[in-house]
Amino acid sequence: MTRKDRTEGIYSRREVLDESERRQYYLIQLKDLLSYAARYSEDVKKRFDRTQFDVDKFKTLTDLKHIPILKKKELIFLQSMGPRLGGLLTKDVGELKRIFLSPGPIFDPEDRNDDYWGYTEAFYSVGFRPGDVVQITFNYHLAPAGLMFEEPLRNLGCAVVPAGPSDATTQLDIMQKLRVCGYVGTPSYLMHLAQKAEEKGFNPRKDLFLEVAFVTGEKLSEKMRNQMEKKFDVIVRQGYGTADVGCIGYECFHKCGLHIANRAFVEICHPDTGIPVKDGEVGEIVVTAFNKTYPLIRLATGDLSYIDRAPCACGRTSPRLGSIVGRVDTTARIKGIFVYPHQVEQVISRFEEIKRWQIEVTNPGGIDDMTLFIEAVGFKREDELLHQLREKIKLRPNLKVLEPGTLPQQIRPIEDRRIWD
Ligand SMILES: [Zn+2]
Repeated sequence: MTRKDRTEGIYSRREVLDESERRQYYLIQLKDLLSYAARYSEDVKKRFDRTQFDVDKFKTLTDLKHIPILKKKELIFLQSMGPRLGGLLTKDVGELKRIFLSPGPIFDPEDRNDDYWGYTEAFYSVGFRPGDVVQITFNYHLAPAGLMFEEPLRNLGCAVVPAGPSDATTQLDIMQKLRVCGYVGTPSYLMHLAQKAEEKGFNPRKDLFLEVAFVTGEKLSEKMRNQMEKKFDVIVRQGYGTADVGCIGYECFHKCGLHIANRAFVEICHPDTGIPVKDGEVGEIVVTAFNKTYPLIRLATGDLSYIDRAPCACGRTSPRLGSIVGRVDTTARIKGIFVYPHQVEQVISRFEEIKRWQIEVTNPGGIDDMTLFIEAVGFKREDELLHQLREKIKLRPNLKVLEPGTLPQQIRPIEDRRIWD
């Protein structure tokens, strides 16, 4: 059977706007959203009043930074503060299509308009095409994932098997009998299916018919991607989003970061101040989806990434998020400087004699102190390591070399033991 071309084309013209068209587009969308939300969302109105943010004075994209960021933790509290999810919604709960519940607990409203979660362009970009038979292995119960990913597939003209997280034998049986060509789920579950298939004596390349996989919800390493692509002879691409706002970004065939979805404006910000950082610098992903029903303006996702504006071979012009490098809550602010575990890891990986590491932060006498523990035998490159760390993270830790096996089995990269009165 000949395979469809899954590498070319775009879904909507918005994906290829030139630079000035794109700026204009963002400006119009944001202006429209902010004035609507200030009028119809009680919570937004309160927040704007409190910070004296005047919608009429919103003239350029950089003006957005005057609105304080909304941390996810605040949503839990806000939603319990009365009708319309604490005044966050611009309409009554009964006018919605669905209301989901995510861990937190946080309610995730879904309105009736088409492509509410905005994943259709993402699925096209990843390689889904009309006529595909697609198996969704995400949960359909309470949480939005299952139903959220049905919508784009319906829009693209695919058939869906709403499998949910059922057992591997059933999943594989369906995949084989229906010649399923598309997978939607986590990367680890696809790996699990490959293992189960092999245990049953299947050859996933020959006995199954997968051609394209949309994975999300977990970190996808390049090693894992290569393994899955080889095992199934499938294109594996990832999407990125949250249960509150839906699609934020997605990969294209060229897998060089996540194109920012055209339904949202994304900033990379300093996690404390909410002020945007320079292009290329790591910070927290702050998203404003153009959603008038549930206007979460400047929602801080807790995920860390950076912006890449280099052109992409696919022709899409939206800026890209580099990889998601970690979570804000795994970072620590030490002597006023944010230390990110991935930056430490980048340095340590150049020293193959270091087996494991951990940073401990304390504050004897109220002054921050940082110690880097490394497990290594006969470590001789102390100066070199400390120099490279200083270059990268702008701080010089104390260094303690430990025998392999000294650090506990489960460790956090940065252990914050500071005590504040
Ligand atoms: Zn691209």
